[in-house]
Amino acid sequence: SGRWVKAMEIVKEFEEKCGTPIGKLRQVADAMTVEMHAGLASEGGSKLKMLISYVDNLPTGNEKGLFYALDLGGTNFRVLRVQLGGKERGIVNQQFEEVSIPPSLMTGSSDALFDYIAAELAKFVAEEGPDFQLAPGKQRELGFTFSFPVMQTSIASGTLLRWTKGFSIDETVGQDVVAELTKAMERQGLDMRVSALVNDTVGTLAGGRYTNNDVAAAVILGTGSNAAYVERAHAIPKWHGLLPKSGEMVINMEWGNFRSSHLPLTEYDHALDAESLNPGEQIYEKVISGMYLGEIVRRILCRMAEEASFFGDTVPPKLKVPFVLRTPVMSAMHQDTSPDLKVVANKLKDILEISNTSLKTRKVIVELCNIVATRGARLSAAGILGILKKMGRDTVKEGERQRTVIAMDGGLYEHYTEYRKCLENTLNEMLGDEVAGTIVVEHSNDGSGIGAALLAASHSQYL
Ligand code: ADP
Ligand code: MG
Repeated sequence: SGRWVKAMEIVKEFEEKCGTPIGKLRQVADAMTVEMHAGLASEGGSKLKMLISYVDNLPTGNEKGLFYALDLGGTNFRVLRVQLGGKERGIVNQQFEEVSIPPSLMTGSSDALFDYIAAELAKFVAEEGPDFQLAPGKQRELGFTFSFPVMQTSIASGTLLRWTKGFSIDETVGQDVVAELTKAMERQGLDMRVSALVNDTVGTLAGGRYTNNDVAAAVILGTGSNAAYVERAHAIPKWHGLLPKSGEMVINMEWGNFRSSHLPLTEYDHALDAESLNPGEQIYEKVISGMYLGEIVRRILCRMAEEASFFGDTVPPKLKVPFVLRTPVMSAMHQDTSPDLKVVANKLKDILEISNTSLKTRKVIVELCNIVATRGARLSAAGILGILKKMGRDTVKEGERQRTVIAMDGGLYEHYTEYRKCLENTLNEMLGDEVAGTIVVEHSNDGSGIGAALLAASHSQYL
C-alpha cells in the first residue's frame, strides 16, 4: 500500500544518512585526534576539553587500608568501601550499594542533591562491619567519582563546568563540587575527607591499571559517554605546572562533546539536540550513548506514524512522549530472537500501548534499532581509534611487543551485546589483523568505584 511505501522511504532515507562506511569512520578518527591536540594546546582550544585530572600516578598495587568511594554520574549512584591489603593481598574485602536518584533532585537545588547523597553515604558508613578496619585514630577517606565536566584545581578540588545527561542545577555550575559534598557530609555529621575527585573514566582507568599493567585508556558507554587516557606530560602545552616525576598525566577528554562535520547526523538528531536540556552540546554523546539511542528510535517511529500511518490511522499517544522508549527496551527489541518477534510485540504493547502489530511491522522496528545502534557503535569505535592514534598505538612498531588494553565500562557496553560486538568488530576492521592483535578491549566491571578508592588511597592525607 501507499502507506507502507512511504514508511519504507522514511526508513531508507534515515539509513542512508546514518551510513558509516570505513572511509567516513577514518575521517571521524582523524578529527578526534586533531581535536585532542587542539584541546591540549590551549584552554578552550577545542570542543574537547581535554581536562587535566591531576592523576600523574596510577595505582601500583601497594595501596593499603580502608577506603570509600562514591560514584555520581547518571541515574544511579553507588557507594562502596574496600579494604586494600597491599601487594600481597590485594582487595581483601569490598561492599557496595546502588541507590537511584529521584529525578526531582536532578533539576532541583544543589543542597538537596548533595544532602541526599551525603545522607545515603552516612547510612552506608553506619553499616560498616568487622570485615573492614580503619587504622586507629584515622579519619575515613573517600574517592569521589563525579562524572560531569569539572575543571580540576588539584587532585581533590574542582569546579563544575556544566551538567550533562539530564542533570540541570544552575547554582552548582562554577562551584567546587568537593566543597559542596564536604559541607553536605558535615550537615549529616559524617566525618570523612574527600582525598580524590575523579571522573568515572579516570576511575575506570585507575581500576583497570590496578589489575592490568597494559591499561592505557578507558571508555565509558553508559547513560553518557566519555574517555580518558594516559598522556605524556610534555605533550600538554597548556599545562604550566611542574612536570610530574612520572612524566605522565591522565587526561579526561570529555569526548561526549566532540563534534565534527564528518559525523553522520540526521534531522532526527538535530531535533533531539534542539529539544534537549543542553542544545548544541554533547553532540557525539547524543549519537552514541544510552540516554539517547532509544529516543532516536522513538523519533523516527513517531515520524513514520505521523506521515505514513505506520501504526494505523492515529498516532499512538505514548509515542509522542519524549524518552518513553528507553535504550534497554530498544536493545531487548533489537536482540529479540523469537521467530515471531514476541519481545518486540510485548514491548510495543507495554511501553507504547501499541497492539496488534504485524510481523512485517515488527521486523522494521528491529531494523531501525539496528541502524541506530550500528551507527553509535561504529562511531564509538572510530573515537577509540582516534585515541590510539594520539597515543601512537595504532601501528605495530618493529621489534616491540607493545600491548594496549582499553578498560571499558557502562551499562550500554555491558548489556547491549549487539552494540558491543559491532564496536569490537569495527575497531578490529579499522586496525587490521596485525595491530588488532595488540589491542584488547576489556570490560572493567565497576572499575570506576574501585579506581576512585585506589586514588583516594594513593592521595591519602596519611602518606
Ligand atoms: P551511568 O552511566 O548512569 O553511570 P551505567 O553505566 O549503569 O550508569 O549505565 C546505565 C545506562 O546503560 C542506562 O542509562 C542505559 O542507557 C544503558 N543500559 C542499561 N541497561 C541496558 C540494556 N539492557 N541495554 C542497553 N542499554 C542499557
Ligand atoms: Mg557511571
